[in-house]
Amino acid sequence: MTNKAAFMTDLEKMEIREIPMPVPGDGEILVKLEYVGICGSDVHYYEYGRIGDFIVNGDFILGHECAGTVVKTGNGVKTLREGDRVALEPGITCGECEFCKTGRYNLCPDVQFLATPPYQGCFENYITFPENMAFKLPDTVSSKEGALIEPLSVGLEAAEQGNVTLGSSVLILGAGCIGLTTLLACKAHGATDITVVDVIPKRLDKALELGATNVIDASQEDVLAACQKLTGGEGAEVVIETAGAVKTTQQTPYLVKRGGTIVLVGMAPQDEFDFNFSKLMGEVAEIKTIFRYKNLFGKAIKAVSTGLIDISKIVTHEFGFEEIAHAFDVNMHQKNDVVKAVIRIN
Ligand SMILES: [Zn+2]
Ligand SMILES: [Zn+2]
Repeated sequence: MTNKAAFMTDLEKMEIREIPMPVPGDGEILVKLEYVGICGSDVHYYEYGRIGDFIVNGDFILGHECAGTVVKTGNGVKTLREGDRVALEPGITCGECEFCKTGRYNLCPDVQFLATPPYQGCFENYITFPENMAFKLPDTVSSKEGALIEPLSVGLEAAEQGNVTLGSSVLILGAGCIGLTTLLACKAHGATDITVVDVIPKRLDKALELGATNVIDASQEDVLAACQKLTGGEGAEVVIETAGAVKTTQQTPYLVKRGGTIVLVGMAPQDEFDFNFSKLMGEVAEIKTIFRYKNLFGKAIKAVSTGLIDISKIVTHEFGFEEIAHAFDVNMHQKNDVVKAVIRIN
């Protein structure tokens, strides 16, 4: 067995190198990875070398959306055995702090999250991981779907925070991977009226394919007027911003219904900008924010395994491990074409 990893060696430079085979410690499993998704954050690090305060320093392995097969177990591993397929929840938390102890472990200040500097990611053949952050995949969930449990969990967190429920009307800004997993999550929560906004036709087609009731092409239409028309002038009960742009974030108070909820998922590149708070206050609408997710991997796997959510359809591109540099180039330079790419690790 040899272990290779894809290192980002500089901006827009990727190199596959042999690395030592990790040995599972107490409570850890050794996983042979089969699929790893390319996340928008991976592409951002590849292009700019940083996201906010997280700065890539030295050779860096990207990738945090992964699934594979257990090939070895360390001492004390009880629930998993060789041959089990698993999805890995990429944040290893301390388990001790106030946030971990109250179940809000996504706020753990000591989290070690794959591919968030200084912690290396998982574009590699083998990884060791704590048993308690590995979720067994049933036979009905493929390893490719397993790698998509992570972005699906973000969508589920957004739907939960927005209290999306049976009959909800939802407007989702952005139809990238997270916009689409949010759409699938809202549908699974029972939303009956889901409008998706983007500027890329291929993404809007995907949204319709995945069950959006309406789409708005913001490059052609006035989003506010289109939303008013679709909602009889009321606005949407839940507005979920996944595009991470200043403009779309600023639009949210004008799209939400009186008493409704805005969920901010995408992070705008600019920290401070104009935002109409008085409109929200006059209408008693609320703003919620999310950071990653918590306690959702198990639910996400159940939703996929029972067919409640068909996550596989979000994938538009698949590449072999040796093609990873090309895969990143395609992600960067063909943004209008790529909705979601995954790497097959063999
Ligand atoms: Zn991700
Ligand atoms: Zn903690």
